Amino acid sequence: MKHRIVVLGAGYAGAFAAGNLARRLSPADTEITVVNAVPEFVERMRLHQLASGQDLAFRKLADVFAGTGVRLRLARVTGIDPERRTVAVTGEDGDGELAYDTLLYALGSSVAHHGVPGVSEYAFDVAGWSSARRLRERLAGLGEGGTVLIVGEGLTGIETATEFAESRPDLSVALAARGELGAWLSPKARRHLLQAFDRLGITVHEHTGIEAVGPTGAITADGRSIPSDVTVWSAGFAVHPVAATSGLEVTETGQIVVDRTMRSLSHPDVYAAGDSAYAIGENGRPLPMSCASAGYTNMQATAAIIARLTGREVPIIGLKYHGNHISLGRQDAIFQMVDGDVRSKSWYLGGRTAARLKSGILTGSGWSIAHPTFGMPKRRRRLATAPHQDGVRTAA
Ligand SMILES: Cc1cc2nc3c(=O)[nH]c(=O)nc-3n(C[C@H](O)[C@H](O)[C@H](O)COP(=O)(O)OP(=O)(O)OC[C@H]3O[C@@H](n4cnc5c(N)ncnc54)[C@H](O)[C@@H]3O)c2cc1C
Repeated sequence: MKHRIVVLGAGYAGAFAAGNLARRLSPADTEITVVNAVPEFVERMRLHQLASGQDLAFRKLADVFAGTGVRLRLARVTGIDPERRTVAVTGEDGDGELAYDTLLYALGSSVAHHGVPGVSEYAFDVAGWSSARRLRERLAGLGEGGTVLIVGEGLTGIETATEFAESRPDLSVALAARGELGAWLSPKARRHLLQAFDRLGITVHEHTGIEAVGPTGAITADGRSIPSDVTVWSAGFAVHPVAATSGLEVTETGQIVVDRTMRSLSHPDVYAAGDSAYAIGENGRPLPMSCASAGYTNMQATAAIIARLTGREVPIIGLKYHGNHISLGRQDAIFQMVDGDVRSKSWYLGGRTAARLKSGILTGSGWSIAHPTFGMPKRRRRLATAPHQDGVRTAA
């Protein structure tokens, strides 16, 4: 019987991992299935662009995996039984169950409501495809002078506010920040950010925690109300609860606890990558939820799966956090490098060059997903008759 590898989620981590596995393992003795809730590869890093009204076409996963041997199952994952090694799914064909020998969990994340009253009822977000499209429709129906409040001064909040202000100069855009906008940036990069907000006419409410959201605005921690026609909740990401409810060992935030090879500490047949993995980087800190982390962790997970199945030592892939690349609309961006303690270095890149670089990164990551088997060794390895006894080799 073939070894069944099931990959949950076809985002940046899962889609790339599935293609990589198909390229490197022989179809004679492995069977790779990827399960995803939607038929497209959703480039989440562009969802604020989608919401702002820009025309974006996402590739069909069926086209991405055509000819790779990867089976695509369009369904929603509802649970995992790690003892029976099965995944429960529900889709157009009804409920079903998939059996696995090795599982790679890459279901990503969605918006974190933090239990704030009114957020789930009244706020919009850009964290997922359907929510970004809902916001797009709402903004399209908002006439001149309409007010939009973005809650959260993280990277997504900044990118969303600047994108909306640039695409819709007829709207009045504001951002509520718990602390000071861009406080973590180097002084020069922060100045650049503040100038961009100024140029785009975005109002910033600093030291403003939001305690409730209603149909016509938000209420601050000190009891003020900020009126808005549209409130966009951008105060962080939360992982899918399915890992925690399935009995996998997870952190308080629900991320799967993994070892250095992205293997679950509680269930050795399960690996995790991307936003849903609690992976410790080389600086000893958890990797941030990001596309770069999704890249490192999926490459490490697939390298470990392939090595263990084919009886080789597990190579160790570097898990470095270099910095952040923040778009400020289509013409401007900030590239802020960080040091090993995640402190911003004094050097930063800003302006059109940074915007072009960011655009290249987005195009490159989308392209590499769409061509999952490009540029990797074509050798498809057979499975070892006896599994390797867990040697781990550090990459040179
Ligand atoms: C607007 C925005 C801008 C961003 N900008 C940047 C940036 O500039 N740089 C950066 O590094 N990061 C950025 N990020 C973060 C980045 O997109 C994520 O860290 C990255 O997508 C994580 O990859 P992933 O594969 O773990 O998850 P995802 O890309 O979210 O993929 C998860 C996949 O699982 C599927 N799925 C989820 N639940 C289920 C289920 N129950 N059943 C079946 N399928 C399911 C989803 O449909 C999706 O295809 C941004 C995020 C957003 C929202």
